[in-house]
Formats: sequence, structure tokens, C-alpha cells
Amino acid sequence: MKLSRKWARIVCVLLALAVAFAVLPMAAYHLAGARSPDWAVAGVLGAVGFLSAGVVLRLKHLRCPYCGRSAAIPQWRTGKRLYCPCCDRALFYDDESDEEGGS
Ligand SMILES: [Zn+2]
Repeated sequence: MKLSRKWARIVCVLLALAVAFAVLPMAAYHLAGARSPDWAVAGVLGAVGFLSAGVVLRLKHLRCPYCGRSAAIPQWRTGKRLYCPCCDRALFYDDESDEEGGS
């Protein structure tokens, strides 16, 4: 049982978009001199929307396959080995070998 790299990447993209929307009003203000409150509203709505979508998808698709009580950190590609904080089992993505330290 493995975690899906596809969903990890989708969650990464959503979180990046949330950050982008969070800085959008400031960027618009400093770069374009935009003083319209629409920028702040769009920034807050976009940030909250993408953040909640990312959190929901993470909880739905990146749960620990063994105990289901925790969600894995979304990794774009193979990195540090992840362990479930609840059941202590190693978590693997579907493009990784499940041999410890294997290729
Ligand atoms: Zn677990």
C-alpha cells in the first residue's frame, strides 16, 4: 500500500497557489499601485480556497495506508523517508521502492 505521487504533486501545486494568492494583493499594490480592495478580497478568497482544497485532498488521498490516522507530507519527488507519527511505519510513494535504503 503506497501513497500516490500524483496527489502529492496536486497538493503541492494547490499550496503554492495559496501562497501566490496570499501575496497577490501586496504584489499588486507595490508593483502596479493598485489600491482597489478587490485585490485583497481576491487574494484572501484565493488563498483560503486553495489552502482548504489542498488540506482536504491531502487528508483524503495522502493518509497513512496502515492506520489511516495521519496524513503524509506531500513530497514532489523522492526525498527524506517519511514515517507515520501514529503507527511509526515507513510511508512510501508509488514511484519508490519499498526496500529500506534500496534503489
Ligand atoms: Zn500510520
